[in-house]
Amino acid sequence: MKRIAVYPGTFDPITNGHIDILRKAFDMFDEIIIGVAKVTGKKTLFNVSERAELCRKATEDMPKVKVQEFDGLVVEFAKKIGAVAMVRGLRAISDFEYELSQALMNKKLSNKLDTVFFVPDYKYLYLSSTMIRQVVSLGADVKDLIPDCVEKALIEKFSEEEK
Ligand code: ADP
Repeated sequence: MKRIAVYPGTFDPITNGHIDILRKAFDMFDEIIIGVAKVTGKKTLFNVSERAELCRKATEDMPKVKVQEFDGLVVEFAKKIGAVAMVRGLRAISDFEYELSQALMNKKLSNKLDTVFFVPDYKYLYLSSTMIRQVVSLGADVKDLIPDCVEKALIEKFSEEEK
């Protein structure tokens, strides 16, 4: 049986921290589906198709990784795609409470679905999409923290906003 995992999130935009988690999950599963949430309760910089497209471009060299948009409960999406596990990243302590409560709630909603956590390389421990959006909007060069396609998309987006 093919072992499929879902890696859900907002990915606004995908960063090298997310990619590091994907690479760590790589050997454990036959396929990893990045689930890009349509509605997240957060106002996003990129719309869902832009976020999904950047995920696709950034993982072009990872044949086991696929990208899909989803709406609603992540456990329903996981069921639909036949996922046996959910992948999440754990950064500094701040992620822990939130991730633990999400994992427990998801387990309650779908007893078959377990959450697997990966800790990123220390380089990415304090990296977030929010931080990337903030500093790039102010002109910072953070090439080593984001894929090239994301850097390009951010620069374009901020120059459009200035017009
Ligand atoms: P969400 O809106 O669900 O927080 P994100 O797209 O921000 O979605 O993150 C998706 C998952 O990736 C979460 O588990 C988050 O903790 C993890 N993640 C985000 N950035 C990093 C990073 N730099 N290192 C490791 N994990 C990360």
